[in-house]
Amino acid sequence: MGYNVAIDGPAGAGKSTIAKLVAKEKGYIYVDTGAMYRGLAIHFLKKGIDPEDRDAVAEACQDAEVTIGYENGIQQIYLNGENVTGMLRTEEVGNMASKTSAIPQVREKLLDLQRTLAEEKDVIMDGRDIGTNILPHADVKIYLTASVETRANRRYNELREKGEECDLEEIARDIKERDERDMTRKIAPLKMADDAVLVDSSGMTIPEVVGRICSLCRES
Ligand code: C5P
Repeated sequence: MGYNVAIDGPAGAGKSTIAKLVAKEKGYIYVDTGAMYRGLAIHFLKKGIDPEDRDAVAEACQDAEVTIGYENGIQQIYLNGENVTGMLRTEEVGNMASKTSAIPQVREKLLDLQRTLAEEKDVIMDGRDIGTNILPHADVKIYLTASVETRANRRYNELREKGEECDLEEIARDIKERDERDMTRKIAPLKMADDAVLVDSSGMTIPEVVGRICSLCRES
């Protein structure tokens, strides 16, 4: 069994940024489970599937295989053998992932992949249901959050830096909608595990958050 750190929280809380840095400092493998849902979302988009049509989504899961690999330590997502890593981080893909992740067949599809990775390796795994559902016996559980305003501002700056046109209010609205969907869905909703440590990064710098989480992990 690997040493497992679970890091859950809402969209834009900084989970991936923080988890990558903790992974580097502690020598863990970083597993981004949101990227797996995004990989499946690309499959649904390619097939022109309506995310509200649950039967069509469930059926489309049957001819999708999501696998992961690492290139220079960076996680790559393969959809039916094709490396789709560069296509994952658009709002369109994020919205499709958020909507379809509420469908049981979608979650089932990715469950084994996530658990197997954690069994074999020392990992820090980020997502929405890692501490509550995927790795209930994780050695360390973190619930990383930040205010909607902070998260919207971060996303806005990130997109602007990439040269993308965006609107702060629209981003905030999107984040609230995504929170609502992730927290109220019937299957594996986003919630803090009873034994998780709450970290609110709103007024914290990145090194402060990384330091706080590393201090909760075993000495490396
Ligand atoms: O974290 P990220 O924004 O990349 O995740 C995309 C979507 O995948 C989220 O909005 C969420 O609905 C879903 N997700 C999930 N469970 C996870 C990781 C992501 O439902 N463990």
